[in-house]
Amino acid sequence: MSDINPCMTCGACCAYFRVSFYWAEADDAGGSVPAALTEPLSPFLRCMGGTNQKQVRCVALQGDIGGAVSCSVYENRPSPCREFAMSGEDGQVNDACNRARARYDLPPLYKDMLFHTGQDAARTALTELQLPAS
Ligand code: SF4
Ligand code: SF4
Repeated sequence: MSDINPCMTCGACCAYFRVSFYWAEADDAGGSVPAALTEPLSPFLRCMGGTNQKQVRCVALQGDIGGAVSCSVYENRPSPCREFAMSGEDGQVNDACNRARARYDLPPLYKDMLFHTGQDAARTALTELQLPAS
């Protein structure tokens, strides 16, 4: 079992789905999502830039999918991102998560997997990974 939150080495959902949300979630309308990183979809909807195209990749996604990734607007990400559950989280399978992972040849996550999501645990695990094999 890995101590790393799988999302930190995935990012597939940020490069698979159109991330659309009510326009007023953006910071030019009272919300917190940086409007400059969004695109208009309809009079009432916006999406994260880069997610309404054939080769989807959110403009806020940093890093390599399947490697080390992060969201540059994590604290201000829109509601679909906040609500999207990693498969296996709280013992629930999320087929959408696994579908996105499969697109990038990443293995599915199941409900009987246990994850430690603390930053300290992730840092410890990363440090261990960087140690030379004995
Ligand atoms: S596809 Fe699933 S595991 Fe990957 S970043 Fe999204 S929620 Fe996390
Ligand atoms: S805003 Fe962040 S969490 Fe949401 S799709 Fe973009 S990179 Fe992923």
